[in-house]
Amino acid sequence: MHYQGTVYRPPSEANSILLQVTTGCSHNKCTFCGMYKGQRFTVTPEEIVFADIDYAAHHFPHARRLFLCDGDALILPHPRLLAILERIRSRLPRIVRVGIYANSKSLQSKTVDELTELRRLGLGIAYLGLESGDDPTLASINKGATSIQMIEMGRKAKLAGIQLSVTVLLGIAGPERSEIHALETGRVLSAIDPDYVGALSLMIEPGTAIHSEVEAGRFALPEPLAILQELRTMIAATTLSNGLFHANHASNYLPVRAKLPEEKSPTLALIDQALAGNLTLRPEFLRAL
Ligand code: SF4
Repeated sequence: MHYQGTVYRPPSEANSILLQVTTGCSHNKCTFCGMYKGQRFTVTPEEIVFADIDYAAHHFPHARRLFLCDGDALILPHPRLLAILERIRSRLPRIVRVGIYANSKSLQSKTVDELTELRRLGLGIAYLGLESGDDPTLASINKGATSIQMIEMGRKAKLAGIQLSVTVLLGIAGPERSEIHALETGRVLSAIDPDYVGALSLMIEPGTAIHSEVEAGRFALPEPLAILQELRTMIAATTLSNGLFHANHASNYLPVRAKLPEEKSPTLALIDQALAGNLTLRPEFLRAL
């Protein structure tokens, strides 16, 4: 397989074939994100992608899942994505789900009919970084989309029948906007109604714009208990028809996994126990991105 730079994938794609169809991220401006810093966005030549699919078909013929890397591979032109998915279907017929990172811009570039066509060819899940539903926070982190656009794009993916996993970032609004960030994010998540929500707690990476903000004293992270309170407020404000709200990533202080709506009350009670000091939080040295 041909790989350039560091290849990222969602935790739930740990057992997937990783097929790098682009390198970097076409947006690459989010202030907290260091994943593709210094890396130019490029489209992998089709002959290399096809050679990798053939290699995977030879070496991993029984694989059930495949993930299209990098940052926002959905930005590829529709005909190119169609050709890739058709090749996967013909060479790797046992693949039951293809996953992809998406953002507001890449979802905007596709019609519902195009997304539906991609879904019919195997595109089963899109991972969308919302980070916050609070418009001033979205603007301050250069997310490149408003909450209304996020809602429209998330709904568009769902309308096409593609499962949606949405990532949110605890701590990203700082201490002052923590509560409004939690409430607004709950509002947007409820409006999108994704299949999965993944909450991560912000960790400041050197080399990012937000790191410079911290160094200059213009941004500070909320304290661990404030981040936990933010998570509680967010879950309380989130209504999903049938979704999983995960906050069990290694960056979080308390692992939480709630099926919504039915497990909301016991989950809030668990967080209350932690806020009251009755549960041990993950120590800083064990946190990781
Ligand atoms: S869209 Fe995603 S990959 Fe690109 S800069 Fe933002 S967080 Fe990073």
